[in-house]
Amino acid sequence: MAIRNIGVLGAGTMGNGIAHVCALKGFSVMLYDVNETVLAKSASIISASFERQVKKGTITSEEKHNALGRIMTSIELQDAVRIADLVIEAATEKKDVKLSLFAEIDRIAPPHTILATNTSSISITEIAAATKRPQNVIGMHFMNPVPVMALVEIIRGLATSEETLGAVTALCGKLGKAPVEVNDFPGFVSNRILIPMINEAIFCVMEGVATPEAVDSVMKLGMNHPMGPLALADLIGLDVCLMIMNVLHEGLGDSKYRPCPLLKKMVAAGWLGRKSGKGFFEYPQKV
Ligand code: NAD
Repeated sequence: MAIRNIGVLGAGTMGNGIAHVCALKGFSVMLYDVNETVLAKSASIISASFERQVKKGTITSEEKHNALGRIMTSIELQDAVRIADLVIEAATEKKDVKLSLFAEIDRIAPPHTILATNTSSISITEIAAATKRPQNVIGMHFMNPVPVMALVEIIRGLATSEETLGAVTALCGKLGKAPVEVNDFPGFVSNRILIPMINEAIFCVMEGVATPEAVDSVMKLGMNHPMGPLALADLIGLDVCLMIMNVLHEGLGDSKYRPCPLLKKMVAAGWLGRKSGKGFFEYPQKV
């Protein structure tokens, strides 16, 4: 099945990155968000991201111009879904949001449309069960920042068909990404390993084992991680980290996955990392 038109749902950190990469590789993209303010900002965020690539010499100004011309935005879900061959959902990591969104897009999308989710941890099988086409539902877990990171974790739900798997695997190739297939378990592979490590780093700060700077230095200098776990948590978003820990805790039923109380407290305070200007580190907001 030829994929030409892609609907991206959610114009936050990940939705913008996914729209960026798809448009650069020649696909028509319709970006949708429920929040008009977020959507209005997305064009300038994506444009700035293209500009960084132009300055690095990885794309030309003409490629930037053409790619921007392939991205449209809408606050109407219909616009993003009606003619899409593939929908990639990158909305807030909340199960109720995703289940009702999938039920709705299933009603609007043409029968051939593949419905993919960029969820970090929620069951693909459960999301698929909210639709009448579970064979067309699959996880496409892009990494942050999407234009930079090669991996796409491809997650098969219980009913995902070979055709759907084949189509999104082929698409990853066209996007210049490396797909890795995994099965549907809480957190899949990436976040089953990454987020508990971040949670443990937060316990280290809470228990006074070390400062955030020291925790990150140990992991960068000692383990050769390009970025410390707390700077990475700020990049991912502390709210997203907490939601994933909750999914692991609930889904695997093991107390070793309990979210660190400091993580909960910071999210309650609105300290969400880069996107709010403050997390474990400070990020002056541009006005
Ligand atoms: P974000 O908070 O930056 O953006 C989410 C966007 O979804 C917001 O703009 C919000 O207005 C919008 N939204 C909420 N309800 C919606 C709805 N019903 N329809 C359309 N849009 C809706 O979040 P994010 O970091 O971009 O994460 C999006 C998804 O990607 C989540 O499932 C998350 O788990 C996953 N993910 C995040 C990362 C990361 O590093 N942040 C990495 C991989 C995957």
